[in-house]
Amino acid sequence: MSAGPATTSARSVEEHRGRVEQLLRPLAARPVEDVDMSEALGRRLAEDVRAPVDLPVFRNSGMDGYAVRAESVAVTPVTLPLAGVVAAGQPGQAPLPPGAAMKVMTGAPIPPGADCVVPVEDTQVGDGTVTVERGRSAGDFVREAGTDVRTGDLLMAAGTLLAPRHIAALAAVGLATLPVFRRVRAAVLTTGDELVPAGTRLRPGQIYNSNGIALGAALAANGSEVVAVEHSSDDPAEFRRALAHATDAADVVFTSGGVSKGDFEVVKDVLAELGGEFGSVAVQPGGPQGLSVVDGSPVLSFPGNPVSTMVSFEIFARPILRELAGLPPVPKSDVPLRDSIKSPPGRRQFLRGRLEGDGVALASGPGSHLIAAMAQADVLIEIPAEVTELAAGAIVKVWEL
Ligand code: AMP
Ligand code: MG
Repeated sequence: MSAGPATTSARSVEEHRGRVEQLLRPLAARPVEDVDMSEALGRRLAEDVRAPVDLPVFRNSGMDGYAVRAESVAVTPVTLPLAGVVAAGQPGQAPLPPGAAMKVMTGAPIPPGADCVVPVEDTQVGDGTVTVERGRSAGDFVREAGTDVRTGDLLMAAGTLLAPRHIAALAAVGLATLPVFRRVRAAVLTTGDELVPAGTRLRPGQIYNSNGIALGAALAANGSEVVAVEHSSDDPAEFRRALAHATDAADVVFTSGGVSKGDFEVVKDVLAELGGEFGSVAVQPGGPQGLSVVDGSPVLSFPGNPVSTMVSFEIFARPILRELAGLPPVPKSDVPLRDSIKSPPGRRQFLRGRLEGDGVALASGPGSHLIAAMAQADVLIEIPAEVTELAAGAIVKVWEL
């Protein structure tokens, strides 16, 4: 693929994705930052974390009940004098007198001298006494300090992608901040004189700018930090200014629109001058693509039709962004078609599909402007370039959206 309209031969999807990955892979080396625990979800832990305290922190009751010595309840029923009550949160230093019981709540310290807890369900309260109806063995319902994790033991390994369960454990040992890898910082730059932001009244010829918000959402959903979402008219000077701002703020920039064969292709015109490569990939939607490096930041240029923009992101950017974020790869599977389809030759097709039963149905016509129909899809159906027709029941590859 070379710059300019002289381009004739189209790149394959793999070739183009390979170039994108080559440009983005250096972003794997990112600095570490400390984030508040409440911001840590979905981030990747940068260092091993050792437990700063034991869990359980101290020996405590696993039940609401009565702390006793097992030998006191060896023969039941037995009535024991009640020596006190320990609630959760109390220091619980008073020892258990021999032959007595102490009422304890779940999470309360076990009084020294007790070795098990009789659940409240197995007791009857008397006047200053408790009758235990079922015996217990030493250790029953006692949660010993350090039996979950011990101070100094490895609690979480570097590289862990932090899910709620990880955050629960890290919070339980009292950590307030965590060292995580900085996310890839991405900027979105949409173009087009016809576009206005949501919340504006449309004048004749205008449409709402959906790609800016949509690409921002796609980036966030795949582990990137969206640092700017900007719009430029089709005026080259304005686009140059917006581009400079975007490359300044971000590790990688995504543009939409202005890369086709129309009269005002501002993205292609400006970026090709800066050494960008613009040309065709043998794919539909998403044929016209651009790749540039501006001030050290890779710039991926997608065509502006909303479905083309989304599909370009899915097939070229999403796999490497997920890898950089430490997220699992996009799930793909082989499923039977529920509809028969026709496909134009020479370009790989990514149709919008919906999983139904154990097959996949078409969710949209072929038009790359059909963004409302795409919202009904949950997969892309990949149809190889040479295939022109498939009967219902044929096995196709689908990419989860
Ligand atoms: P372009 O790639 O600039 O030629 O745009 C192709 C089509 O996509 C045109 O119909 C544009 O109006 C539309 N389009 C371009 N950018 C956006 C955007 N940010 N949001 C919604 N539609 C867009
Ligand atoms: Mg345009």
